[in-house]
Amino acid sequence: MTRVLVIFLLIFLYPHTKSIGQQSDVFIKAGFLYDSKSNQLLPNKIIHIQGSTIKSITGFRKMDKDKKVIDLSDYTVLPGLIDAHTHVLFSQEANEDFADHSIQTLTMESDALRALRGAKRAESYLEEGITSIKDLGNSGLYLDVALRDAINEGTIDGPRIFAAGPILSAVGGQVYGVTHQHQNIIDLEYRIIKSSEDAKNAVREHVNQNVDLIKICADNLPNKAFLTIEEMSAIVEMAHAYDLTVTAHCITNESARNAIEAGVDGIEHGFNLTDSTLTLMAKKKIFLVPTENSRSYMETYAKLIGDDLDGMDWVNGYISRGKKRLMTAIEKGVPIVAGSDNYTKMEVSRGKSSTDMLRTYFEAGMKPLDILQSATYISAMHLNKEKDIGTISPMAYADIIAVKGNLENDFISTMDNVVFVMKGGKVYRNIGDSSK
Ligand SMILES: [Zn+2]
Repeated sequence: MTRVLVIFLLIFLYPHTKSIGQQSDVFIKAGFLYDSKSNQLLPNKIIHIQGSTIKSITGFRKMDKDKKVIDLSDYTVLPGLIDAHTHVLFSQEANEDFADHSIQTLTMESDALRALRGAKRAESYLEEGITSIKDLGNSGLYLDVALRDAINEGTIDGPRIFAAGPILSAVGGQVYGVTHQHQNIIDLEYRIIKSSEDAKNAVREHVNQNVDLIKICADNLPNKAFLTIEEMSAIVEMAHAYDLTVTAHCITNESARNAIEAGVDGIEHGFNLTDSTLTLMAKKKIFLVPTENSRSYMETYAKLIGDDLDGMDWVNGYISRGKKRLMTAIEKGVPIVAGSDNYTKMEVSRGKSSTDMLRTYFEAGMKPLDILQSATYISAMHLNKEKDIGTISPMAYADIIAVKGNLENDFISTMDNVVFVMKGGKVYRNIGDSSK
């Protein structure tokens, strides 16, 4: 028994190396390569891939006939994109109430059915060139971790999932209106924090279940209870001790101030952040994940709820506020991370609806390459994974996509034209495949 344990420990503690698998060499000829770290397009590059990772990047050269070459010289090659804010185990109709649907999910949808449906939604991201997602809760009790593991072991296809497990939250979670005697249902979806000591335990429970990051709700509006600075500080301290980053859902400016004081690494949504809070975030290099949607998304949404945009006066205010905040954040130097937060059925696949984040930032005035950096390198930094994902560089995973068109002059339709998708060295979509 002891010997088995020792062997296990030796294997487990041995420095982690990426699985090499079959050492097949593949070379991609890229007409342009987007270098996400320097945020520029480099012409005529060859990417050497060995197994699941990138070995080297060189200039064009004559290749021997026996080498396996994927010719993307007519295309722009990018690192696989990252959606930093997803909920693949949750889906509601546009006209459904979030709390009602949460209760229905928790009481009338089995974990097995929920996971299978989540698997299908997850897979749809690959088709759009999104090869990694950060799944931030509303995923039952660690169903996101299970989905991640099933994808990593190759049982099903899907993007890399970085799973947060149940969101750490004050009493009630985000599910408003549940009576006192039924609050135990909330424990099936959120990890309710009762004290600073309990907050530390919650992080340890998540570590024990192998989550990849910690997501908290600094506030829970319209539920009024919120986490205290002391509770959030305890979460951050414990998470950082395990090398996990902490990102905080914040609707109010107040809760964002508290979360920043507690030392979180990122703020999700931040709809009401004031200029001085953005200044503080820039100073402390705290990531912002803006999750607004574009005008065309809102038009579809209005149609689905049987309204028209003219009858939705608030949409104009919503769009201009989002734009103003994003532009101010960029001016001040807040690191921006791309995230969709799309969990509504929108007549297209979940992956497709999530690409709306790119359109939203573009409409708000963000420059094309800056948007790409937010969806690759900066997003990976938010997870401390910038050597592994969101980059085409030696030792990173071979998560590589290609688009047709001119990124800088025709961003939206070019990003709509993903023609090649590789994840971990495996090709999921190739030029010449029938169109989507
Ligand atoms: Zn969310």
